[in-house]
Amino acid sequence: MINPSVAIIGGGPAGLLAAQHLAEAGVPGVAVFEAQATAGRKFLVAGHGGFNLTNGEPVADFGPRYAERQREFEQYLAAFGPTELRAWAAALGISTYVGSSGRVFPTEEHKPAQLLRAWLRRLAELGVSLHTRHRWLGFDGAAGLRLRDERSGQEFILQPRATLLALGGASWAKTGSDGRWAAVLTTEAGVPVVPFQPGNCGVEVGWSAFFREKVGRTPLKNVALRCGESTARGEIMLTDYGLEGTPVYALTPAIRQALAAGGPAPLLLNLKPDVAAAELLMRLQQPRRGRSLPEVLRQQLRLGPPVPTLLREAAPAEALHDPARLAALLQALPLPVSGLRPLDEAISTAGGVPFEEVDKHLMLRRRPGTFVAGEMLDWEAPTGGYLLQGCFSTGAWAARGIAQWLQTQRPA
Ligand SMILES: Cc1cc2nc3c(=O)[nH]c(=O)nc-3n(C[C@H](O)[C@H](O)[C@H](O)COP(=O)(O)OP(=O)(O)OC[C@H]3O[C@@H](n4cnc5c(N)ncnc54)[C@H](O)[C@@H]3O)c2cc1C
Repeated sequence: MINPSVAIIGGGPAGLLAAQHLAEAGVPGVAVFEAQATAGRKFLVAGHGGFNLTNGEPVADFGPRYAERQREFEQYLAAFGPTELRAWAAALGISTYVGSSGRVFPTEEHKPAQLLRAWLRRLAELGVSLHTRHRWLGFDGAAGLRLRDERSGQEFILQPRATLLALGGASWAKTGSDGRWAAVLTTEAGVPVVPFQPGNCGVEVGWSAFFREKVGRTPLKNVALRCGESTARGEIMLTDYGLEGTPVYALTPAIRQALAAGGPAPLLLNLKPDVAAAELLMRLQQPRRGRSLPEVLRQQLRLGPPVPTLLREAAPAEALHDPARLAALLQALPLPVSGLRPLDEAISTAGGVPFEEVDKHLMLRRRPGTFVAGEMLDWEAPTGGYLLQGCFSTGAWAARGIAQWLQTQRPA
């Protein structure tokens, strides 16, 4: 029967990296337990959309990406940051490059599944055992764990010297990250869990039936969005339910906060972020000479479809004939956001284990010997490689804490 010295629950990036670091540090008997039939399912899902492993910006600029958790993440990143992450991939035979947006990707010839396969091979060579279809059910006494072998339905108890919980967030449940661990942690260990909320997700706008039918899914390139004090630039996608795209995702925390205050979140769309307001007004003040609004927008401002339809949808009709009001709207068109898309669709999850519940080694204060890493901790970051980097960095940091813990627990 399995009798690991360290049990790692969850075979996502955080758990697998911790397993690798522990095995490389010479810790024997490291075992990973994963509820799904294969490890790294969400890691592979991340691979479908471009597989953005980390970011090429200077590591000094990384900290603020983790918002209120900047201080903690600066520490984790100093130990295992983007340079170490790229070196790790290279050691597995996967070269990476920095794209024009600063995002770091594996080179063209390397597919995500290839990286995962090479990684699992490396873990096996290091002696890490991987037990798929093994679900963690909860705790047993001070250090024990209850697990179920999903193939036989048999339940059993482990008594590892240390445990790492790396159970992920609560989106894309079909990958295994179903957030069911939160109730167990609260009822069995008394750990309060900050309620899950969608992070990096699309938003809902109550478009008219006419707009939904006419516009469907249409990109708007090179725009800026503002919600309160937060701004983001890039390409957004108009969809039949609202908006998607990197700038929308980046504003999720601000939109969530605005929605929590009641009423629609005031999202402002700037369709011409690179043109000064005075210049925009000057161009719109040119005599129309019988031209229609779409012709004026296209000829004076190079704004083609779907902008005229969007303006008719979101702006008062009379404002479209007044150059001053039109100029102002083109740079701050209010899009009333009525809600965030459902949690299960989100790229990441806000909420989870509060940092107040873990010590500086990421060990649960209420359960010595049990550590936590990855998305299940309560932190948020935008897309752009900061999510996986955060999971890898916390996984590496927890592994370090576990190795130290094992030293202190040595029998005299
Ligand atoms: C569509 C999409 C695209 C993304 N793209 C990117 C990207 O390009 N760049 C980026 O940085 N990030 C991206 N991410 C985010 C990234 O994939 C996650 O942040 C990361 O996978 C989280 O790692 P983790 O190890 O914390 O958890 P997970 O990867 O969620 O792994 C947790 C594991 O725990 C297992 N588990 C859960 N409960 C139990 C249990 N009771 N017993 C045993 N096992 C259990 C799960 O099955 C799962 O395998 C994307 C996410 C999505 C959904």
